[in-house]
Amino acid sequence: MADLEGRIALITGAAQGIGRAIAEELAAAGAKLALADMNEAKLKETVAEFTAKGVEAAPFVMNVSDQESIEAGVKAIVAHFGKVEILVNNAGITRDNLMLRMKRADWDSVIGINLTGSFLVTQAVLPSMLKNRWGRIVSISSVVGRAGQAGQVNYSASKAGLIGLTRSLAREVGSRGITVNAVAPGFIETPMTAVLTEDQTKAMLATIPLNRKGQPKDIAQAVKFLASEAASYITGHVLDVNGGMFMGA
Ligand code: NAD
Repeated sequence: MADLEGRIALITGAAQGIGRAIAEELAAAGAKLALADMNEAKLKETVAEFTAKGVEAAPFVMNVSDQESIEAGVKAIVAHFGKVEILVNNAGITRDNLMLRMKRADWDSVIGINLTGSFLVTQAVLPSMLKNRWGRIVSISSVVGRAGQAGQVNYSASKAGLIGLTRSLAREVGSRGITVNAVAPGFIETPMTAVLTEDQTKAMLATIPLNRKGQPKDIAQAVKFLASEAASYITGHVLDVNGGMFMGA
């Protein structure tokens, strides 16, 4: 499906894991890639792999916890590609601990990167989408933002916050041809979850009706759908991609 032929897509946190898989999926549908990450070495490696396969892709070193870095990065992307049509807010981190032990710094960094970072990147690309009267914004939330998770008040709050941001912005910009949606992944096999112990992994798997970890491609396909013409009448939606782990409203 070359549904995204020539569309310019900015993906944050694209150097590895889910972000990289999203880049692959969007490129396969014909998109041109502006790939952003704070890990410069890995980002350049990833972009080199894409360009070797004939994909039009460029690296933009960007730290989404730093407004200046975001503004400079988006400016460079617009100078390079002319516009941004698809934004995927994917960069995210965890700093887990129980509430009573959680350090203020760990609260601040998770909210700063996962939520405020997405707010700032979205604000920086919105003028380009408004000008073109077409846009797709997809933010990567989490099952934890839907259902909660002991030991993750910071992460859960950031991911639930993204859902509020998504629904409010969808109402603001719908009349301009811009859709705003979120994907809420469950337990996906990436470097982020590789740090879990065998016991933690086992306990997690026991809660998944489809009885397997998700793969980054499972999330990437959902993002591609929301970015496509096929999803042009869907906005303010949160798409659960979690193997049945959470089936709430
Ligand atoms: P990952 O740790 O494998 O990759 C995250 C990428 O984001 C890395 O390349 C990292 O360098 C980049 N990044 C981190 N902080 C950044 C910053 N300040 N500025 C720019 N880039 C930054 O993680 P992943 O598992 O691929 O997760 C991707 C997204 O999916 C995250 O938002 C995560 O919260 C979400 N998610 C993951 C899972 C899962 O099970 N893996 C589940 C639900 C949601």
